[in-house]
Order: sequence, then C-alpha cells, then structure tokens
Amino acid sequence: MSVIMSNRILKVAISVPLSHTFDYLPAGGVPEAQPGSRVLVPFGRKQQVGLVLDQADDTALPADKIRRCSRTLDDQALLSSDDLWLIRFTSDYYHHPVGEVVAAALPALLRQGKALNPVMRFVAVTDAGTSADVETLAKRAPRQAELLELLIDAGGNGVDEDALTDQLPNWRRAAKSLFEKGYAQRFEAVADAPEPPAVEPGEAGPELNPNQAQALKHIRSGSGFGVYLLDGVTGSGKTEVYLNLIRDALESGRQALVLVPEIGLTPQLVSRLARRLGIAPAVMHSGLTDSARLAAWRSARSGAARLVVGTRSAVFTPLPDLGLIVIDEEHDHSFKQQEGLRYSARDLAIVRGKQRGIPVVLGSATPTLEVLQHCRSGNFTRLELPERAGGARPPDFRLIDLSRAPAKDGLSEPLLRAIGAHLDDGGQALIFLNRRGFAPTLICATCGHVAECDRCDSRMTVHARDRALRCHHCGAERPLDQHCTACGSQVRPLGEGTERLEDALRAHFPGRQIQRIDSDSMQRRGAINEALELAAEGSADILVGTQMLSKGHHFPKLTLVGIVNADQGLFGTDFRSAERMAQSIIQVAGRAGRESRQGEVLIQTAFPDNPFWAHLSEGGYRKIATDALTEREETRWPPFTWLALLRSAAHRKEDAHALLDAARRHIEGLQTEYLRVLGPVDAPMARRAGRYRAQLLIQSSDRRRLHEVLANLRPALENDPVARKVRWSIDVDPIELF
Ligand code: ADP
Ligand code: ZN
Ligand code: ZN
Repeated sequence: MSVIMSNRILKVAISVPLSHTFDYLPAGGVPEAQPGSRVLVPFGRKQQVGLVLDQADDTALPADKIRRCSRTLDDQALLSSDDLWLIRFTSDYYHHPVGEVVAAALPALLRQGKALNPVMRFVAVTDAGTSADVETLAKRAPRQAELLELLIDAGGNGVDEDALTDQLPNWRRAAKSLFEKGYAQRFEAVADAPEPPAVEPGEAGPELNPNQAQALKHIRSGSGFGVYLLDGVTGSGKTEVYLNLIRDALESGRQALVLVPEIGLTPQLVSRLARRLGIAPAVMHSGLTDSARLAAWRSARSGAARLVVGTRSAVFTPLPDLGLIVIDEEHDHSFKQQEGLRYSARDLAIVRGKQRGIPVVLGSATPTLEVLQHCRSGNFTRLELPERAGGARPPDFRLIDLSRAPAKDGLSEPLLRAIGAHLDDGGQALIFLNRRGFAPTLICATCGHVAECDRCDSRMTVHARDRALRCHHCGAERPLDQHCTACGSQVRPLGEGTERLEDALRAHFPGRQIQRIDSDSMQRRGAINEALELAAEGSADILVGTQMLSKGHHFPKLTLVGIVNADQGLFGTDFRSAERMAQSIIQVAGRAGRESRQGEVLIQTAFPDNPFWAHLSEGGYRKIATDALTEREETRWPPFTWLALLRSAAHRKEDAHALLDAARRHIEGLQTEYLRVLGPVDAPMARRAGRYRAQLLIQSSDRRRLHEVLANLRPALENDPVARKVRWSIDVDPIELF
C-alpha cells in the first residue's frame, strides 16, 4: 500500500520582504503540518524556515511549479489561532510582510528552526566536587574554584551551558579541568515545558488609599474588554493597583502580561512583583540569551508561567489563559519599534485585549495625547491618582534664568549651591542632560571649522574619555585630534554632554561619590542594573545622566533634580515637541522626594518667559496636554488625523526620491479625497550613514481610507523596479517624523 500524500496547499509565511504568503505542498507523512506549525521549505536555492498560516484546496501556481515542504518542524501547532490572528492583524495594520512579522514574534531559536523543546546541555557538580576543598583550589586555580562554587550553588540539576556562558564567559577551560578532576560532569536533557512555579502566599501590601481603592473598584466592576488609563502622578501608587489586578487574574486561573519600557525592567520591579505575588514572573527582554528567551516563551505558551513581564516584543508571547494586560509608562517611546516592523506594543496590546475580551490597564504620569483623547471620546476610561501615595509631597519647581546666572560647563551658580545644600542635608542629587559624550561640537578657535561626520549631515560628538570623535547617528569614529583639520590651529569642544558635567561636578564636589549613567558608561550587560541598585541604596551622592535615569526608578534618598538644558524642546519643529518636553521634565522631576523628604526641581533655561513654563507650573502636565490637544484639533494633527510616513534611503538621492515620486503618483491615481500627501522631501537629516534619505507623509482624517490606500500602495511599490535600489519602509502612526 502506498502512502497517501495529502495535496492540500499550505500557505506559508517566510521571512522575506514580500507581502504575500507562499504556496507549498505538505511534506507528507505524519504529523501533517497545520496552521501554526513551522515547516522547512525549499526557497530559491536554499532551505528556509516558514510558518504555515493557512490551508487551501487550490493554488494559482501551475502544477509543475509548486514545490513540496522538506520537513514539518513541529509535531503540534506552535502557535494558536489567537496568536496567528495577532500576527495577521499586525501585518495588515502595519502593512508589513507577514513573514517578517512572524520573525519578530518568534524567539530567535524557533526562527532558526530549533525544536520547541530542545536538547540542552547541562554542567553539574559531582559528589566529589561537592566535598572538594574549594579554598585550596582557589589558591591555585581561581577560575576553577569560581566555577565550582557556582555549580555547588546550583545543586544537582546543574546549569545549562548558555546560562554558564552568560555568567562566566570563559567557563569552558575551567570546566575541562573540573571534569578531569571528577568534580563536575556534563549531561544532556530535553527541555520540557516547565512545571508551574509554586505559588506562595505573597507579602501583604499597604492598605490602598481612597483613590487607589476607587480605581481598583472601577476596573474590577468592568467585565470583558475595557481600556483603563491610570493617570497617576509619579509615586501615586499605580503599581499597587496593578498588583491587586494581577492577583485577581492569577486567583481566577488566568495569566497576566505586564509590558514595561526597555529600561523599566529592573530587578527592583521583578523582585517587587515576585515578593508580593508569591510567584516568579517569566521575564522577557532583549538582554536575555537565546535559550533563556526560548525557555520563558515556552513556559508562557504552555501556561506554566502565570505572569509574564517583558519589554516591547513580549506583546507577541503566546498566553493561552491571558486575563489581564498592564502597560506601565504607556507614554514611553520604547514601546514603538523604530526599525523594520514599526509596531506599537501598546496599541497591539490593546488590540489583543479586545480580541480576548479582557481588561487592558495603561499607567502613566504623563499620558500621551492619543490616549487622553480616547478617554475624552469615551473609548477608554480615565482613573486619576492625583496624589503621591504614602504621604510624599510633590516636588517644588524653580526656574534658573541662564541670562542672569550663566552656566559654566553646563552648571549655574544657583544649581551648584542647591546641590551642595541638598548633599549637606543628607540628600542625593540627580543632574539630567539628555546628551552623552563630552561636548556635542568640536570647533576651531581660529577658522571656525566644525568637525563633521563624513557619512551624515551631522556633527561629531567629542568623547573625551576615549579620546574619540563619534557620530551618534551612524556610529562613525575617529581619533580626537587637538588640531583643526582645515587650518591646523587649536580646536575647542563646545557645549556640554554628560562626561563634561561629570568632570565639572567632580571638581566642585571633591570627595563625593558621582555616578554617571548613560549608554556609554553602561555598555556592559548588567551594568545599568548594578548602577541603579547603588543609586537606590544611596551610595552615590550625585547621579548624572541621560533619560536612562528618568524612567520609573525609585531612589529613596533623592531630593534634588537639576535639569541642565531644558530649552532643547521649547522651539521644536515637530508637532509633538511640547508634549514630549513636558513628559520628559515631569518624568525626571518625578524622581525627586519620593519618600518623606521634600523634593526640589531646578530647571536651567535661557527663556524663562516662554509661556510653557507658566503653564507647567500652574497646571502641570494636565494643562500642557489640554492646550496641546486643542492646538492639534485646530491644526488637524494626530490624534485628530491619522498619519503614515513613507521613508526611503538610497546611495543616490534621485533613487530615494524616485520611489516616493512613484508612491505619490500611485496615491493620486486612487481616490484621494480624504488624503493629504506631503512631499517627497529630504529627511531632516538628508544624508545618514552614507545614504540619502527622503520621506513622504500621508495624512488622513479617515483612518480606514488611509489603510485602504496603504494596502493598495504596498504591493505596487514592491513591484516597482526602482524599489530594488532603495531601502524603504511604511511607518503607520509614526512617532518620529524623520
Ligand atoms: P507608581 O507606580 O505610581 O510610581 P508605586 O506603586 O511604586 O507608585 O508607589 C510609590 C511608593 O508609595 C512605593 O514605595 C509604595 O510602596 C508606596 N505606596 C503605594 N501605595 C501606598 C499606600 N496605599 N499606602 C502607603 N504607601 C503606598
Ligand atoms: Zn581651523
Ligand atoms: Zn555619521
């Protein structure tokens, strides 16, 4: 009897920049691939991993052209129909090739075709190792001793090799010696779906204050889908409300998903959740090893993990019993991916909540205008926590007029005095400047020549520690030369970055502990968490840094926040400037005085009369946001209209423009009554990393119509020959207009 080969057609998503799926015949044999399973398929001359999205009875391909899958990779569907639905939605909404959406949604190892339950290699201590004399070993072979201690701590189950590489990068050589001594052994095991972690009674939290209780009651009284904005000042106890809702979900047998900004996922938060809920959350962020990420994904998918805490991409995690989604710091830009698939994790989380019929809770002290507008129109419910919990008072704001009190190395006399006073009082100070490096410009004192990047329309930033000039846009680097390349005279760094501030603060406050926190000083994995830990303990007197410092951290001793340069956003050209600037000031200010000591915020500005300051001090973020919403409504910007930004970049400027010209013509050929097309124009930074960049903005008062046009445009551009010379993308709901 011959094997019956099914001739149903599989619609397979493959990670290539083309919108459509690809038709294949099943590999034959059992188990047969079904929607949600991965398959290995011949693609061109290579084999590719694909995901079956659908099955069909026929295909437009001629019978001699259709190929057969080489192999089925999953013996049961990897993704559920709910997960596939989200992938399709994402692809449709962001007009992005579905195969690339699948790639973004899957952990790297699954994308590469590895098994869901891979064979993992472990190293474990032996009995001989357990009773070995570690101290003596440490004298002769410190690395072996270090590894042995780690293995003893881990116990009989051992440590998987990836985790070892993470903790002790050069463990292999030491391990070899331990194997020879009989102190350690290695074994393989299939990583199964983990057992659900033990649930212990969580620690009791504070009794909720009336505002928190009210918000909680309101959310609890809802049923099914609903979006709730917890609009609460920093330190108002939003996290306590989340904790109660998460506990509800867990107690009713559901899973909860908590999304946090890139930098918000600190050990502080994870341990607070774990302690209070009596459960170890599965954590997902970009710093995990591939195997750790797969392990977290697997336990979420199996339902073993009851609580998943993660950054942006965790929104795609399969969660069969999902009952609650929380998005903390809803306004944070890291929720929007800025390359490739330009999705908003916040917006997808809301869509996912709607599809599952569950509550979605957004929290922020500075909600975006988009979300505020949804509250006004009744789509979302706004719940306010106007006061700090636990009795802490809001910080006092004060402006320092730089025209009267000029700054030297970025620091004015009044700011320096305030720092001194707070430190003498036992407080801690945070000095905020959103610019890393020593100085943003290197200028020649004689001829005025400015050091520029060869590949971008931008200046090189001076990095004094590394004696380098770096371009913050393309990463180009060259040695810092003391002499002008144009005339040979002395050059001078102009303006200040965090490095220069750090130097100046050290000079002013000798003997004080100063900790700089920015992406230069925090390159090592784990460095940021260590630094934040030290800052929270209070062992650093002065923290100086960029926005890395401004998000969600709780520094009990911190009483003074100094904002070095507040003027960058006052005259911004982007329609979001005022909103952004207010968000960034309120967020960093929110670090001050979170416990019993009164906090103070000093803002250095050369424009103290700008109405922005009066609005901020009289009405806070609320006033700025209300004004900005009125202005947006009048000028027809989002959230009152919808935007898509088409970007293109090419080695030749003509090519970058040609694609956008074609796009414009194509759009004009459709019915464009509800659309406004702006451009093509050069991008604000026209040349970056050696490519010329241009953009076309499409605006519409009718969201559905905008999407119809984009859906029509995408395949047309994919088929346009000029597209081959160009890198291009569609950004739906862009938050950056460059
Ligand atoms: P947010 O998430 O709004 O920044 P948190 O939930 O982290 O606020 O609370 C800020 C601080 O106030 C924390 O130290 C928290 O333990 C404390 N806190 C929160 N709610 C209460 C309450 N009802 N009573 C006393 N302290 C509280
Ligand atoms: Zn010169
Ligand atoms: Zn550059």
